[in-house]
Amino acid sequence: MFAEKMVELGSKRSTIREIFEFGNKRAAEIGRENIFDFSLGNPNVPAPRSVSDTIVRMVMNEDAAALHGYTSAQGDAAVRSRLAASINETHGTHFTGDNLYMTVGAAASLCVCFKALAEEGDEFIGFAPYFPEYKVFAEGTGAKFKVVPADTDRFQIHFDAFEKLLNPKTKAVIVNSPNNPSGVVYSEETILRLTAILKERSKAYGHPIYLIADEPYREIVFDGVKVPYLTKYYDNTFVCYSYSKSLSLPGERIGYIVVPDEMEDAKSAYAAVCGAGRVLGYVCAPALFQKVVSECAGQTSDVEVYQKNRDLLYSGLTSMGYSCVKPQGAFYLFPRALESDAYAFCERAKTLDLLLVPGDDFDCPGHVRIAYCVKTEMIERSLAAFEKLAKMYQ
Ligand code: PLP
Repeated sequence: MFAEKMVELGSKRSTIREIFEFGNKRAAEIGRENIFDFSLGNPNVPAPRSVSDTIVRMVMNEDAAALHGYTSAQGDAAVRSRLAASINETHGTHFTGDNLYMTVGAAASLCVCFKALAEEGDEFIGFAPYFPEYKVFAEGTGAKFKVVPADTDRFQIHFDAFEKLLNPKTKAVIVNSPNNPSGVVYSEETILRLTAILKERSKAYGHPIYLIADEPYREIVFDGVKVPYLTKYYDNTFVCYSYSKSLSLPGERIGYIVVPDEMEDAKSAYAAVCGAGRVLGYVCAPALFQKVVSECAGQTSDVEVYQKNRDLLYSGLTSMGYSCVKPQGAFYLFPRALESDAYAFCERAKTLDLLLVPGDDFDCPGHVRIAYCVKTEMIERSLAAFEKLAKMYQ
């Protein structure tokens, strides 16, 4: 009848969504202001004013048929050139528009890359903790998704476990930095070690192992920390980018993939991305937003708000006895739960209308994710609830 796996995937909501829905129900009962909802990574900081100004100007002044019409399947050529120039200016790279493929956000960028790469028997490797949809996207191609357990001391990479998982069937490795859910940025040392291993194993196996860099949080970093641009460290890198977080446009569904010329057989790699886009129907990303992001290239939402939220929450929680690796980016805190069962801990938090997500969802049990892309004032009010929760364990 129907594809069983699709019915299964479509029938169960993710835990994050369940918690979010619970929050909506409680908000109707006791008022939104009494719920401390840290469940979803939906940016609360608005897009910069220049984004709405650009939208209005374009909609009011440009030819509607051209503005809203189809673009090339891989995206408007002028848009891609402008974005390539902006990436080059920021990162010292040498891309042209021909290295870019416009997509409907990072989710689509990832699905296209997985689809472009996966052949029968292939395996993809991810590092816990990771965005749970990786597994769905990777397995959706028929490939296997293998997971390197978390390095819970620092949330960098557990290299011994990684080296054991690599094998001739490994087609690609996916990294996400700044990371959802840990907020950690992979250091240059981590990237150098990772790429050295990938180079060595690619040589040993006689085929490239690709690196997929999932980068929706690239610009959301604190204390001047640098996020290495991975194509400069490893030629066979696909960069999956999105404006969902950096420009606070998650509902507009816009992003891109970079396929560098340095990649082995780069022409075929780009053709495979176009082919995967075709098969998945991810062609001609929303025309208006292609143009809007190209006009606003290089801008971001106000990252200082996230830094303020991080500081408030990190210092508040650690002073109460919670243990947590200090995040350097994204907008998540990932402390240890105060009991080994993070689900039970989150249930207890719910009794205080504190909505957190168990780390099990990110393949990292014993931790909880706190999405602090919320109003600073809500964080201030929530601290008493976190304190009550901690006291329940004393
Ligand atoms: N990758 C990571 C790590 C994310 O956190 C998210 C969304 O939260 C995505 C990908 C998907 O992003 P997009 O909304 O651009 O599809």
